[in-house]
Amino acid sequence: MERVAIVTGGSRGIGRAIVERLAQKGIKVIANYNKSQEKAIELKEKLEKENIIIDIFQADVSKRAEVKKMIDYVIKKYGKIDILINNAGINQEKMFQDITDEDWDNVMKVNLYSVFCTTQETIKYMLKQKEGCIINISSIYGINGGSCAVAYSATKAGIDGITKALAKEVGPSNIRVNSIAPGCMNTDMNAYLTKEEWEEIKKETPLEKIGEGIDIAKCVEWLIEDNFTTGQVISINGGFVIT
Ligand code: NAP
Repeated sequence: MERVAIVTGGSRGIGRAIVERLAQKGIKVIANYNKSQEKAIELKEKLEKENIIIDIFQADVSKRAEVKKMIDYVIKKYGKIDILINNAGINQEKMFQDITDEDWDNVMKVNLYSVFCTTQETIKYMLKQKEGCIINISSIYGINGGSCAVAYSATKAGIDGITKALAKEVGPSNIRVNSIAPGCMNTDMNAYLTKEEWEEIKKETPLEKIGEGIDIAKCVEWLIEDNFTTGQVISINGGFVIT
């Protein structure tokens, strides 16, 4: 029976590349989106032209009731969830002194609580199956910290904490949990960067290039197929951060 994967924030950016890669491999993909319905429909139609059928599902993953609805839908329709990719996230560039409680709560909800909540709603089925693969998309900022991105960096370090602790807890149930920590990627999240800033980032990157969604999608594909890697944070960053 084909494997079933949920990708949060799957209509654009890194999530979209993951959806395409997994769907092209023959995995049944449910691409979650929140606000980008048009993009989700456009992706579904694009893949249909390649004779690939994906499912799209609207849910704000920072809200448990919506996450629950999505997971219930997937279980009702497909009977299982083999793979969960917690990719949805928002950026927050602010001087530390300017971060309000509201800013803090918002980025925590969307980036960190969403991973807790979506994983919790999904893992109960993986525990019954005694099999599962969870991949959390964190960031080099969670490893190294990002200037003017304290709250964002905290969410990403928190995600890596979830990955490591949960991997220990659910390893005996044959569930693998890993993080992928991307470096600077060519997505809407960085659309605010100027041409000069892009050039500067390239210069500081040993491989002298900016990452694309496909670079992350290839790592996701590898982690899905592997069966002896868990609790790891794999940073795909062109050498920008070497620990
Ligand atoms: P992006 O192009 O801005 O896309 C963000 C995605 O997250 C969209 O699909 C968006 O869906 C989804 N999303 C945001 N809030 C959501 C919510 N409440 N519920 C459901 N979906 C939500 O960003 P990206 O660059 O692809 O980033 C993807 C992940 O990689 C994020 O976790 C980000 O932190 C991480 N990352 C990115 C970079 C980078 O340089 N771009 C570097 C390191 C880590 P809708 O549009 O439908 O709302």
